[in-house]
Formats: sequence, structure tokens, C-alpha cells
Amino acid sequence: MSSINSCPDVLPVIPMNSLSGVYARFQADLNAAAARVIASGWTILGPEVDAFEEAWAAHVGSGHCIGVASGSDALQLALRALEVGSGDEVLTVANAGGYSTQAILAVGARPVFVDIHPHSLLLDETAIGGAISPRTRALIVTHLYGRMAPMPAILATCRAAGIPVIEDAAQAHGASWEGRQAGAWGELGCFSFYPTKNLGALGDGGAVCCSDAGLAARLRQLRQYGWQPKYQVQIPGGMNSRLDEIQAAFLRVLLPALPELNAARQQVAAQYSAVLGALPGGALPPRPTEAVDVAHLFVLRHARRDALRAALLARGIQTDIHYPLPDHLQPGFIARLAALGEPPMAPAGALPASEAACAEVFSLPCHPSLDAGQVQRVCDALREVW
Ligand SMILES: *Cc1c(COP(=O)(O)O)cnc(C)c1O
Repeated sequence: MSSINSCPDVLPVIPMNSLSGVYARFQADLNAAAARVIASGWTILGPEVDAFEEAWAAHVGSGHCIGVASGSDALQLALRALEVGSGDEVLTVANAGGYSTQAILAVGARPVFVDIHPHSLLLDETAIGGAISPRTRALIVTHLYGRMAPMPAILATCRAAGIPVIEDAAQAHGASWEGRQAGAWGELGCFSFYPTKNLGALGDGGAVCCSDAGLAARLRQLRQYGWQPKYQVQIPGGMNSRLDEIQAAFLRVLLPALPELNAARQQVAAQYSAVLGALPGGALPPRPTEAVDVAHLFVLRHARRDALRAALLARGIQTDIHYPLPDHLQPGFIARLAALGEPPMAPAGALPASEAACAEVFSLPCHPSLDAGQVQRVCDALREVW
């Protein structure tokens, strides 16, 4: 008992995220993929991107996939493909990291926030109707933390109002509702392949999926300056946003492992959930049985969040907050909206469920490289500090 080795102070820190384990496991194939691209002498929009787009469309169950430079660009290009711009309103939520709001503001449109369901922390489909105006041109729904939003109800409401739906599936690779995957429900499904996502490249990357051939053709033009053919700018709103060959080659290595990597996250989440279920007031709200969550993040909430995080950190366990400040209170977004000549966004207090969640949520380490000992340490620490 007096051994220095049992002193908790020397336990290694358990990080929120760690990618080296996954890279080590696939190192030989990743090296071979990089070598193949280098030997080919072709680095932008070539056979690797074509092959990955085909594989990802098939995986998602979507007719088309267009590889782009990031998840943020995917959202922006989706809006541009729908010709959303200045004077238009786009519905979204305020608690999902700001990515959708950033894209809406970037195309010159106005974000209009729908509050969230206090238990799922996802868009509250019953609040959509009250947010629709004659200027509403699209809705972006985020499958936050790896949880599918209730797509049948959301689509029914939006279709009745003639509003196209963009899914932000950047945290939901492989998640599904009634067997249909995230990104295959709305008019457009956006993905990020940022390294820490459930399917990640070794740098930036993203994709837009859709089933409409016309939208797919527009997206292929928009990701490359609006060209068709080369050097002829046929449509407005073009960008330079392409998925690199080398990133597509890495993604082709990791895609076959996605189900297994998701299962590893789900296993960690199940262990945390079991521990919390046995703690007073710790049980997480039940999730709909139709949904398969892919545990991108393990998020819980507590009124004394900051004290709990400090106590966990003292035990060597990193945590994070996804996300601390809702979009309608972000100074940069407020300034951008003013620069667009639009009236201010919703004031503080206007989105009670979103604001309450931002004040109480925090995230435990939940990734495929955690070993059984690390998960056990987090579980033990949770029981101690609760
Ligand atoms: C990561 C993320 C994005 C942005 O993706 P990038 O590739 O980093 O631009 C968008 N939406 C959500 C929900 C995300 O988690």
C-alpha cells in the first residue's frame, strides 16, 4: 500500500482523444496508400477520390457523393447548391458547435434557431413550425454526438412546408434510424472527415451526399470554381473545395474498419451508461429504439459540471464541453449578422433548452483507442466524484 506505484498522482492522463493507436494499427496500409498516390503523380481529383466517393455513397446508401475539403465547406456548398443566399433564412439549432450557423452566415443568409429537446439535446421537431417564415429556404439538422435526430418527423414537417433538409452528419458516420443511415434522409447529407470524427482522414476532408443527379452535378461544379467545362464559370457561388487524393486514399483504408471503430465507441459508451445508471440522478434519458447511435461523443449533464470536471482532472481524466456557448450568443456571429444588415439574432433567454444544455453538458473520453483499463479508471472515478 505504501508503494509509490500505487500513488494516483503518477497515473498517466487519459486524453479526450488519441489517434496514434488507430494509426499504428493501420500503419502499413496507410503507408502503402500514401506511396501509391505519390508514385501516381496525381494529387487532386483523381482515381482515389472517385473510388472513395463511390464507396462512401454506397456505405451511406445515397446515390451520389461529392468529396470536398472539409465538413464546413460541405455545409456551405450544400446551401449554395440549393441557391440559398442573402435575404434567405435557414433553420438550425444553437447548441451544435456553430458549424451550421457559420455556413449559413458565410453564404449571406440568416440563421433562425429552433430550440432543442431537453433530453435528446437534438432539434425539437415540434418547434420547427413556429420558426418558419416566408423567407425560410432550408433547415440544417445536426445529428449531434452521434445521435440521429428524428428524421421521419422532421422530414414530414419540412416537406409539408416545402423546405429542403440538409443533414449535418459530421458526428454521425454510420448512425441510422430505422436502418437508414445519417446523410441519406435529407435532400443533402454533409460529412466531415476531420481526424477525430468516427471516420477521419489524416488531415481535413469532407463530403456531400445526395440522391438528386442535378444537385450532384451542381455540387461538382461548385467545389471547383463553378466550372463546366474547365475555365468556364457557368454558375455563381463556386469555391475551391476539393478532397485531396492522399486523403481519399487514407479514407479508403479506414472505411472498411468504420463499423468496428463505431462498435468500440459504443462499447465504451455502454460501460459509462451502466455506471451512471446506478448513480443517484445519473441515469441518462432513454434513446429511441429506432435509432443506432455511433457514440461520437459521450455527453452527460450535471448542475455542478465544473466541479465534476475538476475532480475528474485531479484523477488524470480529461473532459471537454461540447459546446459551452450557444450560437446566438457568439460575438463573431452577432457581428457578421450586423454586417449583413440583418436585425439581431435571438436574445439570451430565447432558447431556454439550448442555453440550459450549454451550461451543464460535458464530455468524457470516448474513442476507439481507449483500453479496458482506461475505461475502468473513468468508471471508478465517476463513482467517486458523483
Ligand atoms: C466537425 C464538425 C463540422 C465541421 O467539420 P470540419 O471538417 O472541421 O470543417 C461540422 N459539423 C459538425 C457537427 C462537426 O462536428
